[in-house]
Amino acid sequence: MSSIYLDNNSTTRIFDEVIDEMAECYRQGYLNPASQHASGREARRVLESTRETIGTMLGAGFSAPSVDQLIFTSGGTESNNLAIHGLVSSSGNVIVSSIEHPSVLEPVEQIPDGIEIRRLPVGRSGHVNVDDLEAAMDEETRLVCIMFANNEIGTIQPIRRIASLCTSRNVPFHCDAVQVVGKMPINFRELGVTSLAFSAHKFHGPRGVGGLLVRHGINLRPFLVGGSQQLGLRPGTESIAHVVGMGKALAMMLDRSADWCEQMTSLRNRLESKLVSECQCVVIGSDPRMPHTTNLAFSGIDRQALVMALDLAGIECSTGSACTSGSSEPSHVVMATGVEKSLVEGSIRLSLGVNTIHSDIDLVAGRILSVVNNLRAFK
Ligand code: PLP
Repeated sequence: MSSIYLDNNSTTRIFDEVIDEMAECYRQGYLNPASQHASGREARRVLESTRETIGTMLGAGFSAPSVDQLIFTSGGTESNNLAIHGLVSSSGNVIVSSIEHPSVLEPVEQIPDGIEIRRLPVGRSGHVNVDDLEAAMDEETRLVCIMFANNEIGTIQPIRRIASLCTSRNVPFHCDAVQVVGKMPINFRELGVTSLAFSAHKFHGPRGVGGLLVRHGINLRPFLVGGSQQLGLRPGTESIAHVVGMGKALAMMLDRSADWCEQMTSLRNRLESKLVSECQCVVIGSDPRMPHTTNLAFSGIDRQALVMALDLAGIECSTGSACTSGSSEPSHVVMATGVEKSLVEGSIRLSLGVNTIHSDIDLVAGRILSVVNNLRAFK
């Protein structure tokens, strides 16, 4: 029996064309882009032109005098850490949503003394309320961090409204867009956020590379030190192949994003309606949601037992974020929606991707129904 992969929010399969493009980079033998000799300068040329191509695809501005920055990092975790440590410079408060990824929640907790953390509730729908944010902000607010779309329940936050509130209060706003970039077109300038994190392996690029877009005029403090690469903001020798691979994956995904969206919405809705009617499960979070993500709660079933049993039945999915999947703690995201304990304990995430096809959906629904019936029968 072949397995059906429904864990695309954890990572995606790299596109063959991306592998080819990266292999070509290695074959070209680009050397250290910081070297001053001709080989180094050639590597730098490729690096900088890819930086501009990726930034432009994401709506950043590269014409003087207001030039945005795109800093290449090792992925979403590092981009979030860099933004949080780099934007908060004095004591006060930082506002986060209660459903942020651990790579936002933990660095916020580690900001040195004198920072109060204010967590915004999301309620049953899984969305931040802009009025709640406004009420939580004051003269001492140093940073707002709210993710574009949640990795566990897929809910999309009102980013433009949040950005315009933050701009009117002159408060920096960092947005973790790891689950959105490469899936839906975004325009960094029009969004109005201060900084925005993304990661290539979420959109069929290589693992180990990502980026942080930073609006022009913002002085970010480096998190890592020890080199002058990327204006000293992210020292360390850059990997041309990774950056080029990320650019290729982004271009390929943005080219097909309208079709992707339509296909994911139809497959996900079909899966949800079958499971809700046949397995009496509950969908966690409401629209607007990312079209490929569903979080389903099966009352009376242990989520870890369910994920393991589904794996044996040929369905690869997860209990939540891959970073916390080794933990037996229930999901902080599902808990934040305020659903009852039995639903928190029985919730799993299914995330579809470009390789999910129509015929998978009926197979998946059938396999889940039989696993759930077995687990319920043996309780
Ligand atoms: N932010 C979100 C919303 C994510 O889903 C993830 C990965 O699951 C990350 C950040 C971390 O990204 P990376 O795995 O590239 O470090």
